[in-house]
Amino acid sequence: MTAPRAVDYDLTIKEASDRLDRGEISAVELTEAVLSRINAVEPQVKAYLHVDEDSAREQAAAADKSRRDGGVGPLLGIPLAVKDNICIQGMPATCASKILSGFVSPYDATVTGALKKSGAVLLGKTNLDEFAMGSSTENSAMQVTSNPWDLSRVPGGSSGGSAAAVAAGQALAALGSDTGGSIRQPAAFCGVVGLKPTYGVVSRYGLVAFASSLDQIGPLTKDVADAALLLNVLAGHDRHDSTSIDREYPDFTAALDGGVDGLRLGFPQELVAEGVSDDIKAVVDGTIKKLEAQGAIVEPVSLPTLAYALSAYYIIAPAEASSNLARFDGVRYGRRAEGAKDLLEMYKRTRAEGFGPEVKRRIMLGTYALSAGYYDAYYGQAQKVRTLIIDEFKQAFDKFDALISPTTPTTAFEIGAKTASPVEMYLSDVLTIPANLAGLPAISVPVGLVEGLPVGLQVMAKHFDETTVLRVGAAVERQAAFGERPLLD
Ligand code: GLN
Repeated sequence: MTAPRAVDYDLTIKEASDRLDRGEISAVELTEAVLSRINAVEPQVKAYLHVDEDSAREQAAAADKSRRDGGVGPLLGIPLAVKDNICIQGMPATCASKILSGFVSPYDATVTGALKKSGAVLLGKTNLDEFAMGSSTENSAMQVTSNPWDLSRVPGGSSGGSAAAVAAGQALAALGSDTGGSIRQPAAFCGVVGLKPTYGVVSRYGLVAFASSLDQIGPLTKDVADAALLLNVLAGHDRHDSTSIDREYPDFTAALDGGVDGLRLGFPQELVAEGVSDDIKAVVDGTIKKLEAQGAIVEPVSLPTLAYALSAYYIIAPAEASSNLARFDGVRYGRRAEGAKDLLEMYKRTRAEGFGPEVKRRIMLGTYALSAGYYDAYYGQAQKVRTLIIDEFKQAFDKFDALISPTTPTTAFEIGAKTASPVEMYLSDVLTIPANLAGLPAISVPVGLVEGLPVGLQVMAKHFDETTVLRVGAAVERQAAFGERPLLD
């Protein structure tokens, strides 16, 4: 167990909700505590693109009223942050792109609608890499977010603003989106928990699409129990998302105390291969020993096709992005460039001025991969690799209840360290991408510090087995006893 949290903004959802239930604090007081924390540390962290203090206060007052009227629920009055590629009615949704600057969403995403219904207080929108393309939040057209553990370092990406906000106490938890690792990698870098659900468990309606066959929304939280609590609200069928899956979901908090005694955990050797730092390997090995001491059976396993996951992802994701981003043309969507003399010039200028360099790179890569003559060689081939990866995971899950690995090859890197080399930046997701390609649920849980920077352990399980991911994640969390907080004041 971690030490009890001293200040209100530092509470977990569960702790805050218990205090609200006992009447020890009101939602308005809790929200004020978080807003003052934002005002105190935001100049250093720059996690948010938009904070709506008035709306937060109104939502908090409404939550208090609802509680007085007999309303209950674990999220009633809980202040949360939302990544700025997920729509909240009446708030900006910029995706940290110039092309969407000034755009205010006319509707709620299904997930933010569900959070509102459960009485959560939505504080504002967090920074990200433009259109969620990146691993450091440096591709934001608006600002660079700092890692609360070391302000000279990146918080990871693309949900870097959400991860940093949770780590710095600027929200009790947050939503992110994960296409190739964008929840788990920043969670690992910022010492928080990040969960990517099985593809189809959480509705993507109202999430600005990056790569539609890979995108999933999920929670970034201070502990595993909070991830389960949020997933209870987020999971569910939605007729607005044709890939959302119609099935019954369990209470995800039920199995948290199940432990790992007797569970078979595979340790894919391809995910501790070259590039993973020795320090991280040592922390992960230490955690594995503790899990074994709790009765887990941990064995190395080989999934050879994972060696090709990164290459396949960087064909499939840009291909889908090039198609999804075609809608930003200054007519249907996007800020229109001024002064063009005809339609074609207007399209060209709008997109040239509106998109940043990484987004343009993805559009070009994707358009090339999909073009006649190259489609089979690139996109078709990548899809075949994806199928092999899915099959290999299936075989592994015949033998293992879950797979574990480090979440990232290194700890958070210095701001600017990888901006000159897109491929080096891409490599920071090499361990998280396989779960997206296969659609598997995966969590990152903080397990230690290396030179003052957090290390995350990733747990993956078979489709729809969030319960095992959370159960193993909770056991990892108990064993790691990661109680440290970033020092910001
Ligand atoms: N870093 C990866 C990319 O740039 C993953 C991004 C994400 O998961 N949204 O594509």
